[in-house]
Amino acid sequence: MEAMQSLREQWRKTGRSVGFVPTMGALHKGHGALIATAAEHHAEVVVSVFVNPTQFGPHEDFERYPRNLDRDVQIIREYGGTAVFAPSVGEMYPAGILATIHAGPLGEPLEGRHRPGHFDGVATVVHRLLDIVRPDVAYFGAKDFQQTLVIKAMVEREQLPTGITVLPTVREPDGLAMSSRNAYLTAEQRTKATVLWRALVAAQAAITAGKRQALDIEQAMLSVLSTVQELDVDYAVAVNAADLSSVAEFTTGQSVACLIAARLGTTRLIDNAVTVVP
Ligand code: AMP
Repeated sequence: MEAMQSLREQWRKTGRSVGFVPTMGALHKGHGALIATAAEHHAEVVVSVFVNPTQFGPHEDFERYPRNLDRDVQIIREYGGTAVFAPSVGEMYPAGILATIHAGPLGEPLEGRHRPGHFDGVATVVHRLLDIVRPDVAYFGAKDFQQTLVIKAMVEREQLPTGITVLPTVREPDGLAMSSRNAYLTAEQRTKATVLWRALVAAQAAITAGKRQALDIEQAMLSVLSTVQELDVDYAVAVNAADLSSVAEFTTGQSVACLIAARLGTTRLIDNAVTVVP
């Protein structure tokens, strides 16, 4: 923590631009893309590795979340990161493990409804990390679409002096969005997990073919998702990408966010795609 702060102070004095990629570790190519892009734009790139307890519910996977700092440090170096910040829980939460920043209305639907308190935890940890690292720009993945809206709103509300850049979701060759949680899947579940991406492709095809009713787009997703019996769908929705509000019928030029969350056995998967109505 002190090391990070004094490094930051040194960079400030020498006018070095700082990019920042917050992560929970177990790094993959999705994280790598964020680090590499930050490295293209900044003299210094800080990558944080912190499994944040306040964004996990009491029965979620905080304990079993994959942790391998040595491997992560190697990956960070490979993609062009210049500093790793891996604080302890005590350093991040000196006054107790509590979410003290509210996510606001964008944190309420979808993930917020299925994971109560999740986005308050996210907003709290990102606020604290930005406060310590004070980057010029922080980089986030579109994979966690609702999270990017919550963070942009928080940065705006708190008037933090940091730019937010969102980069596209990096996928496996078969379309599955890369995720640290994919490591939980059995070989059979791994094959089935592509159904989320296939459902999003079907939704995009429906929109491109002229469907404008949210219900029709959602039906396109559900009919693909229903082909995998083992899958438990939390939600599969088509909403306004600007603010996640419900729209009965989309209009030309509007951005539609199709968002899916589903469980395969004990693994919870999320994915999304944004399409502009033709
Ligand atoms: P996590 O370690 O899962 O909390 O993710 C850290 C950052 O990496 C977040 O901004 C995520 O949205 C981003 N990220 C995770 N998976 C991907 C992916 N497949 N493609 C792009 N960004 C990702």
